[in-house]
Amino acid sequence: MFVDVVLPLPLSESFTYRLPEGTRASVGSRVLVPFGSRRLTGIVVALHGGAADGHAIDEDRIKEALSVLDETPSFSEELLELTRWMADYYVCAWGEVVRAILPAGTTSGDPTVGIRTDLHVRFAPSYRHDGAVDDLRADLPGAKQVAVVETLAGFQAEGVRAPRQADLLARADAAHSTIKSLMDRGIVERVEKEVVRTPMSSEAVPEAPPDFSMHPGQVAALKPIADAIDARRFQAFLLHGVTGSGKTEVYIEALKQTLAKGRTGIVLVPEIALTPQTVRRFRSHFGDRIAVFHSRMSPGERFDAWRLLRDGRFDIVIGPRSAILVPLSNVGLIVVDEEQEQSYKQQDPAPRYNARDVAVMRAHMNDAVCILGSATPSLESYYNARGGKYMLLEMPERVPLEGGGTASMPDVRILDLRGKRSPGVLSDYLERAVAKRLERREQVILLQNRRGYAPLLECTSCGFAPECPDCSVTLTLHKSKRQLRCHYCGRTARVPQACPKCKTGTLEMLGTGTQRVEEELEERFPDARIVRMDLDTTSGKDAHDVLLKEFGEGRADILLGTQMVAKGLDFGNVTLVGVVNADTGLLLPDFRAEERTFQLLSQVAGRAGRSSLAGEVVIQTRNPDRPIIRYARDHDYGAFAESQLSDRHELGYPPFGKLAGIEFKGPRARDARDLAGRWTDALRKRAVGVDVLGPEEAFIGRVKKQYRFHTIVKSRRSGKDVTLQEVLRSTVEEMGKPPRGCRVNIDVDPVGLF
Ligand code: ADP
Ligand code: ZN
Repeated sequence: MFVDVVLPLPLSESFTYRLPEGTRASVGSRVLVPFGSRRLTGIVVALHGGAADGHAIDEDRIKEALSVLDETPSFSEELLELTRWMADYYVCAWGEVVRAILPAGTTSGDPTVGIRTDLHVRFAPSYRHDGAVDDLRADLPGAKQVAVVETLAGFQAEGVRAPRQADLLARADAAHSTIKSLMDRGIVERVEKEVVRTPMSSEAVPEAPPDFSMHPGQVAALKPIADAIDARRFQAFLLHGVTGSGKTEVYIEALKQTLAKGRTGIVLVPEIALTPQTVRRFRSHFGDRIAVFHSRMSPGERFDAWRLLRDGRFDIVIGPRSAILVPLSNVGLIVVDEEQEQSYKQQDPAPRYNARDVAVMRAHMNDAVCILGSATPSLESYYNARGGKYMLLEMPERVPLEGGGTASMPDVRILDLRGKRSPGVLSDYLERAVAKRLERREQVILLQNRRGYAPLLECTSCGFAPECPDCSVTLTLHKSKRQLRCHYCGRTARVPQACPKCKTGTLEMLGTGTQRVEEELEERFPDARIVRMDLDTTSGKDAHDVLLKEFGEGRADILLGTQMVAKGLDFGNVTLVGVVNADTGLLLPDFRAEERTFQLLSQVAGRAGRSSLAGEVVIQTRNPDRPIIRYARDHDYGAFAESQLSDRHELGYPPFGKLAGIEFKGPRARDARDLAGRWTDALRKRAVGVDVLGPEEAFIGRVKKQYRFHTIVKSRRSGKDVTLQEVLRSTVEEMGKPPRGCRVNIDVDPVGLF
């Protein structure tokens, strides 16, 4: 028997191996095979009888697989088909997608990597009966051996046939050598057992789920969802509901109905929203039937969770992007919460997939339901919903409050920073608003979407600004560590005393980061308890959760941070949200800059007034006349979407056209530029119905010592032109491998272009 195997390498073709005598495999099984001097885990994509089946292979030269890792396949045909679609759509190698679906750390080398075992001890078969101990005692030479045997019998009496060796030794107060001599005498034997490291099983029993009935908005949204679940037919929904409208409860109810049909569900959430708060909420409904994936799991934990999932031990998975690729069978529902989030898009390495779009495809292949939920849907999804590709469900009101009434959307005030002369970053108005909350013992969230102290140091006399020597970006000042730091590669440098260029001027800070806001808050409100949350304070394993807990339990008054503070938090006592500077992302040269700013402002505004306490939002900006700032103030998603869609239409940007970005990288500028030039010429030759823009030096022209150039391919969706993918694929084939040290990265549906 022969198997065709796809390996976790940037190669699309499969390789044929002979199965070892006496082993069996199926399509979707993992096998360990030799490849050059390496051992790799790959996935079987076909089985055949070799030349007898008409395969043009030289059977004598076919190598034998080392072992079959799964007799029952880990991957269903459905999941394999999805990987093929991903390779096709994202113009990457099939092997790259295979690498992404294999559990991390298991793609090469030892087949047991990832499986941890413990040694257990039990009586050898001939001694496995009661009363044996008494007979034994006389034969055993040492007291230690007697102790071990008696302790083992004791374990058995407790119902533990084979305790862990470590436990046995501890209880019997004996050493390994004792076990060894008992083994030599044929009295005990050792067995290896797999250890299951699931962080989810150790947690205490979850609290009872809240008891309430769905409000009319939720009932109306659930009806068509339930119908589709019932009919087991594919249908994608866009659930557009303001923050606090009860979307999560809709997901939970839909999951219940899916499980009742005997099917399973996947819930994708942005990593940042995967807080204990969220997990607890789902677990209160689904207990041990839900598996949690997150990026802070160790490879071992990840592997165990993956294995248990494959073996059907869970009905629901909740996790970030990569959870869309888990080997869960019989999927009936896929939820993508905050579907507009950029974190659903994988940047590096390939496959550069968007989990939201893969979710829709996976649901389609499974006759399953897909719910994309958001308070501020991406323009792509909104457009798809308007055009009827997805069904649009709207929940424009917040959940009614217990004592009657509705938590209203907060009042938003725009503060014009132009002409503000005082040195501080807080306007007088915002400062007074914070003071008022502190007095009333209410809480405040402040957003400054830039970490560090000051984004820029500039020489007052010559204008020099310190840059990273490896990346063409300026260094950010981190005052607490008295350091300059590159936010691209992490390189640090000391803060120079005088300007290193003109040697006379002094360096002055421009712009504001979270650390500087924190310092100002400490000065103005010396008694306030401040929690700062940004990449620098959340690098530890649970740091993020610890900070949120501190704030959530009222042990802090002000939560200050980057976009991390904007997402998914639900704290009833927060009555003021301040945006220190709304312009930080607005002015980037990216066609999505306005969309992102609108989403960020809407999200952070949604953190205020989640209870009966009225909320207020203050947005500081130097661009108060920009329409999108006004749309955010008025909570007017519709107007925002219409204006953006008409701009996009004019320029042929998504959702009206398809984009791919191609990045050319190399350690020498000339090589990278030449490569980009040749590639772009080749693209142009094929460009029927597509525009080829570039090559250009990338916005950040150098990162980690690599020079970067970009070309953009843009196709208007029209009729039967060749697809973007066909153009890219045939160019890849023509151009072959890039020269040594250089790389070509293709990004279909990029989230950022520059
Ligand atoms: P969203 O996901 O849209 O932000 P949630 O589902 O988190 O909204 O709901 C907001 C709050 O309202 C949560 O505390 C939730 O427990 C509560 N809630 C949701 N639905 C109802 C309901 N029908 N009746 C009472 N409370 C509800
Ligand atoms: Zn750098």
